[in-house]
Amino acid sequence: MRRPTPKSTSISATASSPIGRLRAIADLAIEEDAPLAKMTTYKVGGHAEILLVPATVDALQSVLVVLASIDAPFLVLGNGSNVLVADAGVSGCVIKLGDAFDYVRLDRDALGEGRHILEAGAAMSITRLLRVTKREKLAGVECLGGVPATVGGAVRMNAGTRLGELSDCLVDAQILRPHVAAQWVPAADLGLSYRRSNLPPRAIVTAARFACSDADPKMRERLEEVLAYRKSTQPLHLPSCGSVFANPEGDSAGRLIDVAGLKGEQVGGAQISEQHANWIVNTGDATASDVLALIHRAIETVQRESGVRLRPEVQLVGDWPADVVAATYPPGHGHTEAGHV
Ligand SMILES: Cc1cc2nc3c(=O)[nH]c(=O)nc-3n(C[C@H](O)[C@H](O)[C@H](O)COP(=O)(O)OP(=O)(O)OC[C@H]3O[C@@H](n4cnc5c(N)ncnc54)[C@H](O)[C@@H]3O)c2cc1C
Repeated sequence: MRRPTPKSTSISATASSPIGRLRAIADLAIEEDAPLAKMTTYKVGGHAEILLVPATVDALQSVLVVLASIDAPFLVLGNGSNVLVADAGVSGCVIKLGDAFDYVRLDRDALGEGRHILEAGAAMSITRLLRVTKREKLAGVECLGGVPATVGGAVRMNAGTRLGELSDCLVDAQILRPHVAAQWVPAADLGLSYRRSNLPPRAIVTAARFACSDADPKMRERLEEVLAYRKSTQPLHLPSCGSVFANPEGDSAGRLIDVAGLKGEQVGGAQISEQHANWIVNTGDATASDVLALIHRAIETVQRESGVRLRPEVQLVGDWPADVVAATYPPGHGHTEAGHV
């Protein structure tokens, strides 16, 4: 969907302007007014004013320096599987990591005693990472099985499944910030907790290293079981962001939404899934606003019926009105967690 009204450009286009400096960066693809819906798993949302795809670490560093010099916010997008992009799009820049960030490297026995390091670039898909571990007969990252993330997005969200979470297997992540050379930061210093991290402002994950060992065939069986369970319980045939809400302590968001009678509830083309109440699916022609209206309906109804304030796991990104964002997250959640830094 295109933006309803044209906006003033937040990155000026004069000769020595930031856009001019961005255009001068080697190995950087720039697209103006780039549609974002196709870059997210919800398939909704507007356009990015400027989409930047750095193909190398140097290009990314140069981009960060230009954006920092004008204090311009930006959004870094992984596979777009945990974001709800506003129908009005994103003013300013969206960064999508390019080729140099899509790699995997295995360093056998690097940790001693038969323990290996698997290093992957931030743009690598978790699905491909798991394929590599299958081929190399490695165990360690199966807790990410079925998560349609990139490595960078999985670190940022501390992604996980019923088999565990990324923090169980992450050794460290490589972080890039403006004017600071890429640094390997130990997992313990990333503030990883349930579907959260506390990466410093303007930090981009460029790679991650995982601890692996030789696979026990039983682990593979267990992973296949979990994947089959997911297939049978999740509406994977429709665009979504997976679970919309984090599970409250000791309970399940899906159960609370279900007992509140909201399964099947619909706004426009968005629907609270009949199959899994914590999923809001795009039945075909949903807008981001339809999805958000259902998110608010679930929050209000569950609060009224069960007294529990649900916390959305999905991140609102782009040009949502500030009061709408504030009404979506519990007090103290902080909008920077919504990914636009
Ligand atoms: C069908 C489906 C099933 C899912 N199942 C699960 C599940 O089982 N468990 C689970 O945890 N999640 C699940 N999710 C949600 C989602 O896959 C995770 O939250 C995932 O970690 C998001 O990764 P991404 O690459 O898509 O990130 P995006 O959605 O693109 O971005 C998410 C956040 O990470 C930031 N980010 C992305 N890349 C980087 C980077 N390189 N550096 C710094 N920040 C970055 C973004 O700015 C944004 O704030 C599911 C989603 C879908 C659609």
